[in-house]
Amino acid sequence: MTRPTPPELWFVAGTQHLYGREPLRTVDTHAREIAAALDGAAAIPLPVRHRGVVTTADEITTLCRAADGDERCAGLVVWAHTFSPAKMWIAGLASLRRPLLHLHTQFNRELPWSEIDMDFMNLNQSAHGDRELAHVMTRLGIPRKTVVGHWSDPAVLARVGRWARAAWGRHEAQSLSVVRFGDNMRSVAVTEGDKVEAQLRLGFSVDGYGVGDLARAVHEIADADVDGLVAAYHEQYEVVDVPDGALRDAARIELGLRGFLAAGGFGAFTDTFEDLADLPQLPGIAVQRLMADGYGFGAEGDWKTAALTRIVKVMCDGLPGGSSFMEDYTYDFSANDPKVLGAHMLEVCPSIAADTPRCEIHPLSIGGKADPVRLVFDAHSGAAVVAALLDLGDRFRLLVNEVEVVDAPEPLPKLPVARAVWRPKPDLPRAAEAWLTAGGPHHTVLAYPLDVETLADFAEMTSIELVVIDADTEPYRFAKELRWNQAYYSRR
Ligand code: MN
Repeated sequence: MTRPTPPELWFVAGTQHLYGREPLRTVDTHAREIAAALDGAAAIPLPVRHRGVVTTADEITTLCRAADGDERCAGLVVWAHTFSPAKMWIAGLASLRRPLLHLHTQFNRELPWSEIDMDFMNLNQSAHGDRELAHVMTRLGIPRKTVVGHWSDPAVLARVGRWARAAWGRHEAQSLSVVRFGDNMRSVAVTEGDKVEAQLRLGFSVDGYGVGDLARAVHEIADADVDGLVAAYHEQYEVVDVPDGALRDAARIELGLRGFLAAGGFGAFTDTFEDLADLPQLPGIAVQRLMADGYGFGAEGDWKTAALTRIVKVMCDGLPGGSSFMEDYTYDFSANDPKVLGAHMLEVCPSIAADTPRCEIHPLSIGGKADPVRLVFDAHSGAAVVAALLDLGDRFRLLVNEVEVVDAPEPLPKLPVARAVWRPKPDLPRAAEAWLTAGGPHHTVLAYPLDVETLADFAEMTSIELVVIDADTEPYRFAKELRWNQAYYSRR
C-alpha cells in the first residue's frame, strides 16, 4: 500500500467588522502568517491552508459547510484573533462534522510594555475573544481540543501536530474498508462486535468475503511473479532452511492477497486459521509484509483490531519506530521485574524489528495446513503504547496502556515467532488488573511513535470512550473511573 495521501487542515481566524477595514487587513495578514507557520512546522504532518478571516454568521456557516463538503479537509483550526461575537458561530458549529482544534494563541508574543496603547489592545484580543468563542463551543457541546500558547512555541506546534495525526487517522477511518475472509474464530467473544455501530461512529466499513475468493486469486498468480518475490525474500531476509516449495506457496499467497486488497481498495483485513479453504498455509510472511506496507490486520476475524492497526499506521506516518498487530501471549512473573511476552502465531509486523528478520518455516499445531513461512525477529526496545478497541454493547472503548519495550533478558532460540517483551506502566500486576477490569482484549496494536495524547484526541473527535493505563494508574481509582464513564455514556 502506498503512503496515504495527506489531507489538509483549514486555519480560520474569527473577527468582526467593528474595528474598520484597516485592522481587518492586519488580522488577515497575521492569520496568514500563523497558518504559514503551522503549514511549515515539521511537527505538523498535514498541510495547513489559510482560509481567510470570518466576520459574519453567513461567512462562518458557509465556511463550515464547505469544510464538511470538502473531501480533502480533515479538520479546522480556529482562533478568534479579535473579539468575534460567538452567536455568529452557532449555526456553523452546530452543523460542523469535521474535527475542531481551538488554538488559543495571540499574534504578538511579549507585551511591549512601554509602547502599549489602545490600538495594540484592540488588535491583540484573543485573551477575551477566544473565551467568547469557547463559551459557545462548550454550550453547544462541540467536541474539540484546546491548545494554549504562542504559535511559534515548539510545544504548541507539537500538540497541534498530535491532534493533526489524530485527525488524519479519523479521516482515514472515514473511508477505510476492511475485508474479512470468513468469520471470526468460533466461540470467541471479544473479536465480535457491532459493525454497523462501528461504521456510524468511526466511519470504516467491514465486509465479508469467502476465503475461496482469496484462494482463487492466489491460484491465478503467474509463476514468473512468484519467482520474483522469492528472489526478493532471499535478498531482504536471512532465509533459514525453508524448502523451495513452501517458500513459493508463501510468496503466491502474498501476491494473491496483495492483489485482492488492491483491487478492492481495502486498507485492512482479517483471516482465521479455522477457515482457509484450499490455501496451502495460514498466511504468515504475507500478512507481516502487508502490515509493513501499511495495511491493517487482525487475526482470527478480529476486524476491530484490523481497522485500528490501519488507523494507527496512518497516524504514525513518517515517524520512526513502527507499529504492529500484537497479542499479550505469556508472562514473566519474576518478583523483581515482571514483564509481558507479546507475540502471535505468525503475524507480527517487521516494522518493529530490531534487526534483519529471519525467514523460517515451522509447524503450526492448529489449522491442519502445511507449515507456514514466517519472519522471526525481536522487537526493538523503546517507549510505546498498546491500544485496543473493544465493543461493550452500548459503546466502543479505546483502551490504552503505556509500556516500555525492553530487550529480552535472554535469547529465545526455540521460539519460532516474532516477539516483543515489555514492561507495562505502572507495573504488570496493576496494569493487567486495570486492563482486565476494563474488559480489554488480548489483541492489541503496539505502536512506538504514538502517544496517549494523539489517541485521546482521536477518541474526542470520534466521541468514543478513552481509558488510559499509565504510570499514575491505581486500580481502585481506575475502577471508579470506569463506573463514572458508565454513567456518562449511558445517559447519551
Ligand atoms: Mn490471536
